[in-house]
Amino acid sequence: MTISSPDPATTSSPVSERIEAARRKIARACRIAGRDQAGVTLTAVTKTQPDAAIRAALEIGQRVFGENRVQEAQAHWTALRKEFFDLELRLIGPLQTNKAADAVALFDVIETVDRPRLAEALAVEAQKQGRALRVLVQINTGEEPQKAGVLPADADPLIAQVRTLGLTVEGLMCIPPVNEAPGLHFALLRKIARRNGLSVLSMGMSDDFDVAIRFGATHVRLGSALFGERKPV
Ligand SMILES: *Cc1c(COP(=O)(O)O)cnc(C)c1O
Repeated sequence: MTISSPDPATTSSPVSERIEAARRKIARACRIAGRDQAGVTLTAVTKTQPDAAIRAALEIGQRVFGENRVQEAQAHWTALRKEFFDLELRLIGPLQTNKAADAVALFDVIETVDRPRLAEALAVEAQKQGRALRVLVQINTGEEPQKAGVLPADADPLIAQVRTLGLTVEGLMCIPPVNEAPGLHFALLRKIARRNGLSVLSMGMSDDFDVAIRFGATHVRLGSALFGERKPV
């Protein structure tokens, strides 16, 4: 072993192995879909994960992370932000307008804009804090009453409205219904994105990211595939 060899204790941790395995699976899905691997970003979803798991991901170079609650994200990332200057933090859970200030202060990208009032609150905060906020619009492709996201029929007007507020709309995000084949939902998201001239598609989770890549996902959001099953909260 040479001095420059990586520390085996860290490189062989389950988290680093799982992340390497996920990267290989993403590369394979890209090859099968005839896509350039550089066009798919792995977002590591660290909700409910201990700091050690987050550290292990950082140590093997993972830099894009997703969280679904503002408060938990602050606990995970406020200190690490100062240590790692190249982090990209993405909010992937529903956001209440009264948390807009905290969300704008912490996150680089908010993936869950789904109503005008929230977009307005984010725009006001982004201006106040002097931050260029990037956002995605979340679409409720399954039209599930309990789920966040704008209905597909209302997507175009909302996207247009968010754009007028000075937020950078990069693309769309969806979470398909659990008991349906996800492909139709991914196809619908892609169709709405195309007709609105949007390039980013955040879709695909641990169980269906290969399908999402086939349908054009640019960001896949993986939690349990990288960190193991979450404890129920
Ligand atoms: C938790 C979560 C994920 C990750 O889910 P896994 O099935 O564990 O990969 C992805 N997207 C959103 C919006 C989530 O809340």
